[in-house]
Amino acid sequence: MKSDINWVKTHCARMDHGGCSIIVGVKDNKIVKVKGDPDGFLNKGYICTKGLASPDRLTHPDRLKYPLKRVGDRGEGKWQRISWKEALEYTAVNLNKIKEKYGPKGVAFGVGMPKGLEHFVLIRLANIFGSPNVVASQDVCHAPREVTGIHTCGFYPVADLHYKSKLILLWASNITSTNEEGEISSMLLEQVEDGTELVVIDPRKIDLVKKAKKWIQLRPGTDHALALGLLNVIIEESLYDKEFVEKWTYGFEDFASHVRQFSPEKISEITWVPPDIIRETARLYATSKPAVIQWGNPIEHNIHTFDAVRALICLMAICGNLDIPGGNVNAKEPNILGLGPFVRSDLIPNKRKEMVSAYHGVIPRLMTVAPSFFKKAILDGDPYPIKGFYAMCANPMMSYAGSPQTYEAFMKLDFIAVADLFMTPTAAMADIVLPVASQFEIDDIGHYGLGHGFILARPKIVDPPEECWPDIKIMNELGKLISPEEYWHEDYNRFLEDVLEPEGITYSQFVEKGYLKGPQKSKLYEEKGFRTPTGKVELRLSTAEKFNLSPMPSFKGIPEDDDLEYPLILTSSKSRYYLHSSYRWIKKLRDKRPDPKVEIHPETAAKFGIKEGDEVIVETRYGSMSQIAHLTDSIDRRVINASHGWWFPEKGVDSLYDWQRANFNMLTSTEKLGKEFGTPNLKGLVCKIMKK
Ligand code: SF4
Repeated sequence: MKSDINWVKTHCARMDHGGCSIIVGVKDNKIVKVKGDPDGFLNKGYICTKGLASPDRLTHPDRLKYPLKRVGDRGEGKWQRISWKEALEYTAVNLNKIKEKYGPKGVAFGVGMPKGLEHFVLIRLANIFGSPNVVASQDVCHAPREVTGIHTCGFYPVADLHYKSKLILLWASNITSTNEEGEISSMLLEQVEDGTELVVIDPRKIDLVKKAKKWIQLRPGTDHALALGLLNVIIEESLYDKEFVEKWTYGFEDFASHVRQFSPEKISEITWVPPDIIRETARLYATSKPAVIQWGNPIEHNIHTFDAVRALICLMAICGNLDIPGGNVNAKEPNILGLGPFVRSDLIPNKRKEMVSAYHGVIPRLMTVAPSFFKKAILDGDPYPIKGFYAMCANPMMSYAGSPQTYEAFMKLDFIAVADLFMTPTAAMADIVLPVASQFEIDDIGHYGLGHGFILARPKIVDPPEECWPDIKIMNELGKLISPEEYWHEDYNRFLEDVLEPEGITYSQFVEKGYLKGPQKSKLYEEKGFRTPTGKVELRLSTAEKFNLSPMPSFKGIPEDDDLEYPLILTSSKSRYYLHSSYRWIKKLRDKRPDPKVEIHPETAAKFGIKEGDEVIVETRYGSMSQIAHLTDSIDRRVINASHGWWFPEKGVDSLYDWQRANFNMLTSTEKLGKEFGTPNLKGLVCKIMKK
């Protein structure tokens, strides 16, 4: 019998950063099945539990289906259904009112984890409106690696898992759970099955430790120290790539004498990693070529992220693993529209000086505002007041460090609009809530602007509910009301064509192809040098004085010093079944992980009278919350690992979905921030635990 299911190819989105190619079965405008695409160049058939459950977002009964206007007090959960025309006009009137009184920079535009192209349309909207303030969690995700890379070697060195490496250092990357941008675990697993050696650097015994040659269990928040220790051994033992160092690095002599102070013995005291293991790991990395460092964003989760990333890039460089196949590479983009023209950066030439972060002396080229500085502008008017906020793909009440402060800041704003699929603790604080269409319901381009050298086609598969609009459409229409109409398209889908125009193909031709990849060229520096002021990899930053940066990666301490009152060290992790604070409402995923778990070593638990399944209060100097104890020896006796992103959709809006109870960011604070990116300490805090 002939099947009446229509099978369509697309790429996964919004469930994590991965971008697996998938095949979707559609019948009567409904998705009936999703499977991994064996031809997918990133995933070769792989699909994870989240990907399989992804269609459930679209048909969930709690999905937002029409625009809402707040009628009660802020956060009270009283809403009135309104039309799109009313919603857009109300939003425009309020944003324009703030603009008149405080100037355009009095409005901030916020994004959390974007789906695709809408991220750049948001930046365009801010630029055209005249606000330099796009708030994003880049302080703890991506920007430290990207921007530090640009300062150190002129590009963002991404792991090249497309070419076989001899060794993979999996550094703070639980890739089988989280799948970094464009770095799907299936690619890494394939290499390991094929004989590539794996070293896992993680405070937790993650699944991949089973396949690893070595597991380096370091103290949370000491990645910078460990990297400096490896550099010390490689230079002391003369294991570095002399030819590369001679020709292509700047400041090696100074650098070599600087790292002499980080002996394995000294680093061992900081990181808890035995000196012999530091030596063996350094030797292994330096003598395996090509070797790749697959780095995850936990290295961006404390105030020392700049030093950690600097040290790691220097490690790649002196061992000759930078920009070679199977190392960490400068991925070339396909011939598509550049980000600058797309977001119309020309319209806001003073952005670098005017954005809130600039007043806090962050590193040049950081183009988004760190949430901690955004909140300071709202609460203290420092450096100037922010009064309005338009947010999409974001749940800052859960995801910004220092949640009680986030609540206080949002209570103080004059106007908040939130676009989302579901009501969240953040959407519940808004004046206007806009229901969006999501993946499978919009034509989209994935991985644009992410620096991995490819873009992915994500065509529309089914129609969204009538009043759920694509984010791009919302901003295209709002843009016409709050900025000159000439910058916006009659049909928002034109933005997709704009991106592809330089390549000379239409969106439908792109969908036929599935993806576009940039040319595979390595060692481009041999022709043009590195794109730094010296044309070399800057082990010693030539611009350090000018930009008030440390010239060399240094050790300036650990996130928090030991404290008898708080005898344990706190880290956190994301579950493979969720993405940050999303998807607790998807039954298939919630059944897999019903509760927020805090991992405790059995001996530590016994010391505090805690048993498996007990509710446990975790307390830091900044606050407390509770999660469910899970006893495991996959963690050091001195460390506990809490779950990130937990709120309870089933608890209802009256309690703002019980947003405080198990929220990891009740434990964090914006008191201490990294100078370069405004990064707070999310890992390596001192804490204590007790049975509730
Ligand atoms: S690994 Fe990521 S991209 Fe792949 S199916 Fe799962 S959620 Fe989607």
